[in-house]
Amino acid sequence: RDVSGKPYWEVIRNEEINSLIKEALNGKKALKKQLMIISPEESHFNMQVSAILSESGDLVGAVALFHDITELKKLETLRSEFVANVSHELKTPLTSIKGFVETLREGALNDKKRAEHFLGIIQAHTQRLEDLVNDLLSLSLLESKELKLHPMSLQIKELVDPIIELYRERFDEKNQEIRVNIPENTPPIKADRKKMEQVFANLLDNAIKYTPAGGTITVTAQEHNGFVRVDVKDSGVGISAEHLPRIFERFYRVDKDRARDSGGTGLGLAIIKHILQAHDGKVSVQSEPQKGSTFSVFLPKS
Ligand code: ADP
Repeated sequence: RDVSGKPYWEVIRNEEINSLIKEALNGKKALKKQLMIISPEESHFNMQVSAILSESGDLVGAVALFHDITELKKLETLRSEFVANVSHELKTPLTSIKGFVETLREGALNDKKRAEHFLGIIQAHTQRLEDLVNDLLSLSLLESKELKLHPMSLQIKELVDPIIELYRERFDEKNQEIRVNIPENTPPIKADRKKMEQVFANLLDNAIKYTPAGGTITVTAQEHNGFVRVDVKDSGVGISAEHLPRIFERFYRVDKDRARDSGGTGLGLAIIKHILQAHDGKVSVQSEPQKGSTFSVFLPKS
């Protein structure tokens, strides 16, 4: 479209932009403003207009610069949502702890049985706060530049077996069968041992939590295009397609109440995703509601 020779207000059909240009021209000065434009998607710009003057000080025209800050705005929104989420997550157990301490001080302390019960609740919420803070620290460490990995050659079986032993009681309690199928010739991976323990402990913890009593959890490993792929499969509640793309987000939970009751922080999968990114690996998920889920971890071969 040929726009030369036309007045700017006929070409730019945006009231905010035009009024800033007008103001700059009229005042022979430079101005700044943040704009939001919705066409077709929401975009944000830093707009700067400067009047151009000739040597004698006459108005020649104006230059307008638009700096696209949409991505920055998105990050800003994410950050403030994160802070809101963290505050909310911390507030729930705190409110409860405060309430039960008050109840104890107002007399429940003298009733040993009730006091025991309330102390149990306080302890559970304190544990929750500790878990949350630990997970938040893990996340912030993973995101910081100070993250130091100590990669070494690791055998998947040697990594997974001790975690399964650690969880043995929980499998037994829920009458869940745990199967491990990691072939002898599975190549070792190159990874940080502590971080990998965190990944598989988290995945197995979820598998136990989200699989009803009597279910089966299977861990398998195989080589896959230069990577070692480890699958943690469960016969649990599964995740429906609409939720699948979001479960690796911080604090995203499919069923908020159930997830909180089962003691989750909503940060486990976000931590796993970060750890795998730091290892040049990845994690993916396949799931069908009521049938079960398979989380696949891909790690570079040693
Ligand atoms: P949480 O602490 O709530 O378990 P995660 O980040 O580990 O947080 O998981 C996020 C959500 O993904 C969970 O709340 C749950 O809804 C879903 N999820 C994770 N693992 C499984 C699984 N094995 N089966 C079904 N749902 C799962």
